[in-house]
Amino acid sequence: MSETPAVRRIGVYTSGGDAPGMNAAVRAVVRTAWHLEIGVHGIHRGYAGMMAGTIEPMGRRSVSNIIQQGGTILKTSRAPEFHTAEGRRKAADNLRAHGIDGLVCIGGDGSFRGALDLINEHGVPVVGVPGTIDNDLYGTDLTIGYDTAVNTALDAIDKLRDTGQSHDRMFIIEVMGRHAGFIGLASGIGGGAEEILIPETRTDVEAIAKRIHQRTAAGKTSLIMVVAEGDEIGGAIALGERLKESAGIDFRVSILGHMQRGGRPMAIDRLLASRLGYEAVNALAAGAFNVMVGEVNGEIVHTSLEDTFTRKKPINPALVELAEILAQ
Ligand code: ADP
Repeated sequence: MSETPAVRRIGVYTSGGDAPGMNAAVRAVVRTAWHLEIGVHGIHRGYAGMMAGTIEPMGRRSVSNIIQQGGTILKTSRAPEFHTAEGRRKAADNLRAHGIDGLVCIGGDGSFRGALDLINEHGVPVVGVPGTIDNDLYGTDLTIGYDTAVNTALDAIDKLRDTGQSHDRMFIIEVMGRHAGFIGLASGIGGGAEEILIPETRTDVEAIAKRIHQRTAAGKTSLIMVVAEGDEIGGAIALGERLKESAGIDFRVSILGHMQRGGRPMAIDRLLASRLGYEAVNALAAGAFNVMVGEVNGEIVHTSLEDTFTRKKPINPALVELAEILAQ
């Protein structure tokens, strides 16, 4: 770049829930920084490491052979102490001691809330990269890790369908999504689920029981229901109990849990992570100080960090309708 970058040495960290593709983002950040002749340090274990001072320089080769790996080589953490002003002061002191004058935060809404506090209290510029399987950040069509998580859930649904078909069994499959139903809706539609229960829509157990009876009367012998962990019914076990009680229907329950966080990132996540990691460093170099870089309709957009978690990203109501029609 022709102009002098607004930052001389940046720190990169992964924070909160891990997501496949975080490594590809770290790699893109490190390589782009080198390309722009900006120093780059890795901060280990997110805010916990920022407060403890586990910060190390990263060379171009330090990110070799990680683009295809799940998890995060920088590790991640939940760090309650970062909720305190004292914790954040420790972190800011460590950044200063390492000469870091800009940060790339790869994480979800909690990580961005923490980043905003750091900006407001200590003036450290932070650019966010959306890394969470939940896809629940405003300002980007997709978050890094979401597509891989959906594919993992789909793989599990397909396998459960095989055994369900063979035994004429009904399955309830619980997927991740404490506050958002993106994984539930996508894996439910892709997996051909008869019912999809997500936090964004109202759950009516009596109506579900009625539809199940109609479907079995119409000849369905096995059935798949996908429920997001954050649905108001309280998850797959609670739903199974309610259906047993109210309609005498027996379901097998499968909770997919943390397996959805792991695995090799799919092509979509590697591309997105590479692109957003690159854009994040360019944004810092150009003087951005509190935005998330995202992709909307194929274009790179900047959204204020605050908007990413205060504004709600809606699910597509057309997909909810589609799911109902195709499940008949
Ligand atoms: P995610 O980034 O995946 O949403 P979390 O919600 O666990 O994950 O947030 C990651 C970390 O960010 C927390 O453990 C904490 O250290 C920090 N954090 C979250 N919310 C805040 C907040 N309101 N103020 C300061 N730090 C926060």
